[in-house]
Amino acid sequence: MSGAAQIERIQELLQRLRLMKALIELPQLLQEAGKKEISYSDFLEELLSRETTAKKERHTAMRTTMARFPFQKSLESFDFKQQPSLDPKAIRELSTGRFIADSENVLLLGPPGVGKTHLAVGLGLKACALGYRTAFTTAASLIATLVKAQNENRLEERLKLLVQPRLLIVDEIGYLPIDRNGANLFFQLVSRRYERGSILVTSNQSLSGWGEVFGDRLIATAILDRLLHHSTIVNVKGESYRLKEKRKAGLLTRSDAVAEAVLAEGVART
Ligand code: ADP
Ligand code: MG
Repeated sequence: MSGAAQIERIQELLQRLRLMKALIELPQLLQEAGKKEISYSDFLEELLSRETTAKKERHTAMRTTMARFPFQKSLESFDFKQQPSLDPKAIRELSTGRFIADSENVLLLGPPGVGKTHLAVGLGLKACALGYRTAFTTAASLIATLVKAQNENRLEERLKLLVQPRLLIVDEIGYLPIDRNGANLFFQLVSRRYERGSILVTSNQSLSGWGEVFGDRLIATAILDRLLHHSTIVNVKGESYRLKEKRKAGLLTRSDAVAEAVLAEGVART
C-alpha cells in the first residue's frame, strides 16, 4: 500500500498534467486495487479511462452550452409510437452523425406541434456528444443577426462565424415572412456553408411554400437548390403532440379547440 505522502506527491503530478479526474479518483482506486489485488495494467487502464470519460463529458457539456439550445430534450425521450409517420430508422441514421461528417443537410418538415424542434434538439445534442461544434438558432433570430451585422458593416465577420459550427440548426423557417434583404442574407449564408458544413432546418411550410416565405421565388429556389443537393428530408405528419396530451388529460380548453381546428386546416393545406 502506498503511503499518504506518496499519494499526495502523485496527486501533485496529476495536477501538473491537469488530469483532474484521476487526481480525485486516485485514493479510492488505489485502495480498491490493494483490496482486490488488481493488476498494475488494469489499475492504470481504469484510472486513465475515468480521466478520458470525464474529459469527454466536459467537452460535450461545453459544446452543448455553446450550442444554445432552447431546451434539452433527447432523442431517447421522443416517443416514436406517437408519430407513426416517422421512420425511427431514418432518425437513427441521422443520429450517427454521418450526415455531419459528410456536410449534408437535413430538412424536418411538418405542421406545428409534431416534434420538429424536439427532434432538432435531440439530433443537436447527439452532434455535441459526437464532438461536433453545433449552433442552434431560429430563422427569425438568425436573419435579425445578419441584418444587424450588415448595418454595422460586419456582415463578412458574422458570416465567417456562422460557417464555423459543423452543424447549424435553423428552427422555424416559415413562421414569419422574410423580406427580400433577409432572404438574400440567408442565401449568402447557405452558399457559404454549402458542402462545408451541415444545416438542419425545420419548417412548418412545405417546400413549395418557401417562395412565399422568402418573398421571392428565385431566391427560395436558389436556397433550396443548395440545401437539397446533399440532403435528407424528413416529413413529420400528424396532429399536435401538445394538444393530444391535453386532450388525453381532459384539459382541452375552448382556445385549444380553436387552435386545433386551425392546425388541422394547416395540415390539410400542406
Ligand atoms: P414543433 O417544433 O414541431 O412545433 P415541438 O418539437 O416543439 O413541435 O413539440 C411540442 C412539444 O411536444 C414538445 O414539448 C415536445 O417535446 C413534445 N413532443 C412532440 N412530439 C413528441 C413525441 N413524439 N414524443 C415526445 N414528446 C413529443
Ligand atoms: Mg418548433
